[in-house]
Amino acid sequence: MVYAVKLPIFVRVPWLHVRAITLVFIVLWKYVYDAAGDQVGLTEDLVIHESVHFWQWLELLIVGFLPVYGWDFSRAYLWSEKAKTHPQGRFWGSYSRIRLEQEAFANEGDPLYLENRKPFAWVEYEVY
Ligand SMILES: [Zn+2]
Repeated sequence: MVYAVKLPIFVRVPWLHVRAITLVFIVLWKYVYDAAGDQVGLTEDLVIHESVHFWQWLELLIVGFLPVYGWDFSRAYLWSEKAKTHPQGRFWGSYSRIRLEQEAFANEGDPLYLENRKPFAWVEYEVY
């Protein structure tokens, strides 16, 4: 029952252009295929990752999430050496430097993270 209030609502959308996206309390997601051709659905990592975003949306009072996301992406794109030299290119390098994403990626492998997470944990990460 703890998870009933800790998790957003997951809705599968086959035509989505990304694997998953969190819009406040709703996560849109689709099946993808791994290198071996096997179908990959809602993995625990993905559920934790998107649920971290759900909590970020709430603590930023909904209206603050996209401005922080866009501000971090823009700063990384313009001024981050790590973004500029990222092996997947500057766009994905900038995406990877967004503090909201860094928190989600750094902790998606921890099944207890949602239980232990402190509000505004993403402020500890650095864009540059
Ligand atoms: Zn994310």
